[in-house]
Amino acid sequence: MSAARPDAATAPPFRHDWQRHEIETLLTQPFNDLLFQAQGVHRRHFDPNAVQISTLLSIKTGACPEDCKYCPQSGHYNTGLEREKLMQVEAVLEEARKALAVGASRFCMGAAWKNPRARDMPYVLEMVRGVRAMGLETCMTLGMLTRDQAEALEDAGLDYYNHNLDTSPEYYGEIITTRTYADRLETLDHVRQAGMKICSGGILGMGESVNDRAGLLQQLANLPVHPESVPINMLIRIEGTPLAHIEDLDPLEFVRTIAVARILMPASHVRLAAGRELMSDETQALAFFAGANSIFYGERLLTAQNPQANHDQRLFKRLGLYPEPRHDVDDATHEAVLNDQIRKAQVAAMTTDAAAH
Ligand code: SF4
Repeated sequence: MSAARPDAATAPPFRHDWQRHEIETLLTQPFNDLLFQAQGVHRRHFDPNAVQISTLLSIKTGACPEDCKYCPQSGHYNTGLEREKLMQVEAVLEEARKALAVGASRFCMGAAWKNPRARDMPYVLEMVRGVRAMGLETCMTLGMLTRDQAEALEDAGLDYYNHNLDTSPEYYGEIITTRTYADRLETLDHVRQAGMKICSGGILGMGESVNDRAGLLQQLANLPVHPESVPINMLIRIEGTPLAHIEDLDPLEFVRTIAVARILMPASHVRLAAGRELMSDETQALAFFAGANSIFYGERLLTAQNPQANHDQRLFKRLGLYPEPRHDVDDATHEAVLNDQIRKAQVAAMTTDAAAH
């Protein structure tokens, strides 16, 4: 959540009773009016030029029993994706150190599971403890959780749990048949009851209507507490999945959805998530103006390519954006950990050079 901005105190109270037609009206109003309104809300709650940066690592890839029609990791489709078992704890921690060194404040770990099995939990909990000890915020996405699993993750220090609603309740059955919308809402409830923050959003460009996009936002905004993080993904069409040849979504429809997410959930971080590498710099700039203030940064976004970190750095410079600092770790601690990682990387580079001669 953002550091409180002075004008947040005078902002209207957050609503949790949005009607579908109200959201559709917001989505379809003239573009300039929509962006002006969204930017006004954004400025009341956030530093308008700060962007939170997360890095995402796939800790277990492919062979997922779910049938999400957009997903190359589903075992139902032949996408040529190489399956990988659950990573070793130390290998995950090594990736987290690299993320820290490129400026990430949150490290997200994703596993392609229907739900974590009892025998996986000790490893997963160890990963959370290790990443947290580096001073990074932790986030995981492991599929559905029982209440006990949610509590165990919270005890280990997990800050965020990601579980997307994907689309509207009405369109959901067109995309996934192996678990229900109610299952997803139940996992979100377990996460909230356990005391963790929620990261939940959806995917656009799956053939859904404007009404479905309104339906997704309505579900998210009408949760008892808004998700702290709302990833809005653009479909990445992957050969072998049922959505491989679906029509492109107009990028301005994507920007409109970001803007309405900002208006409905004023203090949530709205994340430009998967599909960002398919967007022009100009579309991304409009999305930031519409209220997006979080991105994934690094080389990979689960199994899809993500723009390289240095391209993002150039874009940030062109737009005058900067990474949002973490709020629960003081600067001195963060700097000390960062310096330690830089020193280790320098030593490793020297050793490699020496070995090469
Ligand atoms: S989106 Fe998640 S649950 Fe669905 S198939 Fe992919 S990995 Fe499995």
